[in-house]
Amino acid sequence: MLRIYNTLSRQKEDFKPIDEKAVRMYSCGPTVYSFAHIGNMRTYIFMDIFRRVLKYDGYKIKGVMNITDVGHLLSDSDSGEDKMEKASREQQKTPWEIAEFYTNIFFEDLKKLNISRPEIIAKATDHIDDMIKYVQALEEKGYGYEIDDGIYFDIAKFPSYGKLSRLSLEDQQAGARVEVNNQKHNPYDFALWKKAEPEHIMQWPSPWGMGYPGWHIECSTMSKKYLGSTFDIHTGGVDHIPVHHENEIAQSEALEGKKTVNYWVHGEFMLVNNGKMSKSLRNTYTVSQLEDMGYPAVVFRYFCLNAHYRKKLNFTFEGMDAAKVSYSRLLSALYQHKMSQEKTSEEVLAKYKKDFEDAINDDLNIPLALGVLWTMTKEKKSKDIFELALEMDKVFGLNLKDAKLDVLDAQEDIPEDIKKMAEERLNAKKNKDWATADSLRNEIKAKGYSILDSKDGYTIVKD
Ligand code: AMP
Ligand code: ZN
Repeated sequence: MLRIYNTLSRQKEDFKPIDEKAVRMYSCGPTVYSFAHIGNMRTYIFMDIFRRVLKYDGYKIKGVMNITDVGHLLSDSDSGEDKMEKASREQQKTPWEIAEFYTNIFFEDLKKLNISRPEIIAKATDHIDDMIKYVQALEEKGYGYEIDDGIYFDIAKFPSYGKLSRLSLEDQQAGARVEVNNQKHNPYDFALWKKAEPEHIMQWPSPWGMGYPGWHIECSTMSKKYLGSTFDIHTGGVDHIPVHHENEIAQSEALEGKKTVNYWVHGEFMLVNNGKMSKSLRNTYTVSQLEDMGYPAVVFRYFCLNAHYRKKLNFTFEGMDAAKVSYSRLLSALYQHKMSQEKTSEEVLAKYKKDFEDAINDDLNIPLALGVLWTMTKEKKSKDIFELALEMDKVFGLNLKDAKLDVLDAQEDIPEDIKKMAEERLNAKKNKDWATADSLRNEIKAKGYSILDSKDGYTIVKD
């Protein structure tokens, strides 16, 4: 039974889907006005792990992710220049071109990181009419009111506002810039729909004149459209708890008059040198930049999997170097199992399988599950171990099937006489002296080592 930490209750809960046929899951997607950074990617790796664990447990999933291509405002408050338009002005492209460009790169990054795409990808600009209808419905129910620059949600009408973050309004907004707008009933009321100035490029006709949707309304509208008025899981990064998800809850529950999400699950942040990573601070890296620096995307994935999703993860290049070495050793260790013809007993295999399943089902404890995999690699070499590792890799997504030798790793601690015999064997092979080559191989084997031939030579491993 999967247990998952619900931000709403602040505890681990048994996961019970509404409908056994398919788990319904919504994940806040990227704002596509610039490159997604590796911090963003940590959150999507967490989403992917969650999806993989659900699949491993036998569930089907209907997942939705939005693409914010409208651009939301510069800060979480409702003022400032639209992010998409800022990028558009700086790069001399239309906001639509900007959005398409960065959306494509985002999907390439997902692919590189083995992140499975949610079943439904919903672009905000394709759902403007749905959002207008949603805002109208909130207005009809008395939750929305119109002022000069837009339609706002009336927080005073929703007394449980703040239940997800457990913060008072003042605490939540501390530090956030709140626009002084005398027409708002309450300074913390947020925009459902904004009326556009003529120079605003992205704008659509609405009952309130030309304008564009608020950011939060996107997620409430699209989750309802594809997943229904109540669904199972909503994911996102912890930064979304106080404003974005609080506002989503206010909108959705105001409209439906009931709980709309059963499990709110949030991924912790990635830091850089123990500080905040953000596009605006310009201390971010992209997956492609890491690749250019010699860190394959899968190594970054491995780096992320070594930390639990509810723990902060500090990104450093020392950490990435360690991940690179460790990942390579893992592949190397598994390769030796892959090449073995030996068997492992059912009991031993069953125990590792159970330990693995217990770990992943305990609030997605992937670091512990990786520990199980590592311990398992230390068993006597056997093909069965490799097969079980591949089964586990349905969750890890670490390309373990590509297990190959890490020459550096494998050559460690090999005695000189063995190395010498291996060289002699290679020469014998080159001279097509198969008898000598075979006898040297047997001699090496008798001393407790094996030669693994590969296309660029051979590697010696301890049996
Ligand atoms: P954005 O495109 O800014 O809306 O962010 C996309 C996703 O990345 C959201 O779910 C954020 O919560 C998440 N996110 C942003 N910064 C970080 C970070 N430093 N570490 C982890 N997740 C992040
Ligand atoms: Zn969202």
